[in-house]
Amino acid sequence: MSTIKILRSSTHNALRSSLGWCRHAASRPRYDYDLVVLGGGSAGLACAKEAAGCGARVLCFDYVKPTPVGTKWGIGGTCVNVGCIPKKLMHQASLLGEAVHEAVAYGWNVDDKNIRPDWGKLVRSVQNHIKSVNWVTRVDLRDKKVEYVNSMGSFRDSHTIEYVAMPGAEHRQVTSEYVVVAVGGRPRYPDIPGAVELGITSDDIFSYEREPGRTLVVGAGYVGLECACFLKGLGYEPTVMVRSIVLRGFDRQMSDLLAAMMTERGIPFLGTTIPKAVERQADGRLLVRYRNTTTQMDGSDVFDTVLWAIGRKGLIEDLNLEAAGVKTHDDKIVVDAAEATSVPHIFAVGDIIYGRPELTPVAILSGRLLARRLFAGSTQLMDYADVATTVFTPLEYSCVGMSEETAIELRGADNIEVFHGYYKPTEFFIPQKSVRHCYLKAVAEVSGDQKILGLHYIGPVAGEVIQGFAAALKSGLTVKTLLNTVGIHPTTAEEFTRLSITKRSGRDPTPASCCS
Ligand code: FAD
Repeated sequence: MSTIKILRSSTHNALRSSLGWCRHAASRPRYDYDLVVLGGGSAGLACAKEAAGCGARVLCFDYVKPTPVGTKWGIGGTCVNVGCIPKKLMHQASLLGEAVHEAVAYGWNVDDKNIRPDWGKLVRSVQNHIKSVNWVTRVDLRDKKVEYVNSMGSFRDSHTIEYVAMPGAEHRQVTSEYVVVAVGGRPRYPDIPGAVELGITSDDIFSYEREPGRTLVVGAGYVGLECACFLKGLGYEPTVMVRSIVLRGFDRQMSDLLAAMMTERGIPFLGTTIPKAVERQADGRLLVRYRNTTTQMDGSDVFDTVLWAIGRKGLIEDLNLEAAGVKTHDDKIVVDAAEATSVPHIFAVGDIIYGRPELTPVAILSGRLLARRLFAGSTQLMDYADVATTVFTPLEYSCVGMSEETAIELRGADNIEVFHGYYKPTEFFIPQKSVRHCYLKAVAEVSGDQKILGLHYIGPVAGEVIQGFAAALKSGLTVKTLLNTVGIHPTTAEEFTRLSITKRSGRDPTPASCCS
């Protein structure tokens, strides 16, 4: 089925390309637009701009429903407004707090007893940056001739999108040859008393006006861990409530090591625990009732802020997908390898599609490639394999390729060799920072040149370290090549070129010094 769709689409594109496809080709177009994009986030904007660059007439809808506490934001979607960008800025703010203390050990005369963050100032700085990106995005759309409507779009039929230009106004309709659904997702709330009225999510924290104070972070996916860590770094007291395991879907050993690093830094975990209710106390603080599902014991504690980080749901409920005949799975849209939905001229990209990595660069590249296939005769499909990712905790965790357990499950333990090692970043020595969790491993085939299947690294600037190795892994990196690569000394990335101890050998992976 999917192959047929791809072939149909590529034949169509080849024809367009050979005719020098252009929107003026037909004297009177059948539809108002060649492409309507629903959603102006990473995926939608990339697709809309690329399509317009290919000469298509493009309209992009973007609309943000305010959160229950009233937070709203401008164009650009999750990444820019309430995701990667504000998260990275708060992560950086928290790392800088740590760096100030390290500076004293390096000889700087800093009164490190009186260093305090100014939450209000940080939030204002972060929001100012976001607003400047919103502005640049709108200008960019205008320059690239993408029409933008700040409204919620929904299907009337498979070629017709309905919207309301402003509250109370009449419904309007536009027609389009193709529609791309790129509506992304929003955080889930648990179905317990007080959750929606009293809790916040990552959609609120980056513009939260009051100091978060003692914060219960419910959920131990990457968003929960990152929020807990930047709050800790900024001097607040986060606690992480975990229903089952930390960082589901990531390498188990690395995830457990990351949790141990957080515990060492004073972030407590409430393990195998679920929230039961949130109540506002007379003093304004929040009483959270919970149950430990292992011991079946109930407990409660008082917090200033409760932050739900229990996962995200796809925003399909307002799309009226039934009117277009688009098939869904749970709250996501099912697509084939060419991102076509069950309706051949309707496509979906980004977080809204079922079973693909929910990451900005994935959303951007898939949106761009789709536009090229639709309007520039390209046949290139998005490759969703071996996408690198990073968890932005104080020691970051970055990885690409298979986890150790996936490799064992798919290839068998006898066919896998794991090279690993702890290491000591040079810059950690003077401030005497803990090196206990600086660790890396390469999961490889056991035979031949030992093709590398996965790389995992916990340490400083993990994302910067793994990005280059991700390209190498995609190009077929082997252990032989890795060990034949001369490292850059003294860096932490060079540790990958020095991996010589296998787990199978049972040898101690702890180094004696930094330079041996
Ligand atoms: P979105 O960016 O969510 O955009 C969809 C847009 O469509 C939104 O503006 C939405 O309001 C709008 N919309 C919805 N319905 C309609 C409709 N019917 N009509 C019109 N508009 C509509 N990824 C990384 O790669 N690195 C990170 O470090 C990272 N950190 C993250 C941190 C957090 C806290 C979160 C929440 C996410 C993070 N992500 C990160 C994930 C990344 O933000 C998403 O993968 C990416 O934004 C998805 O892009 P998208 O275009 O699919 O959806």
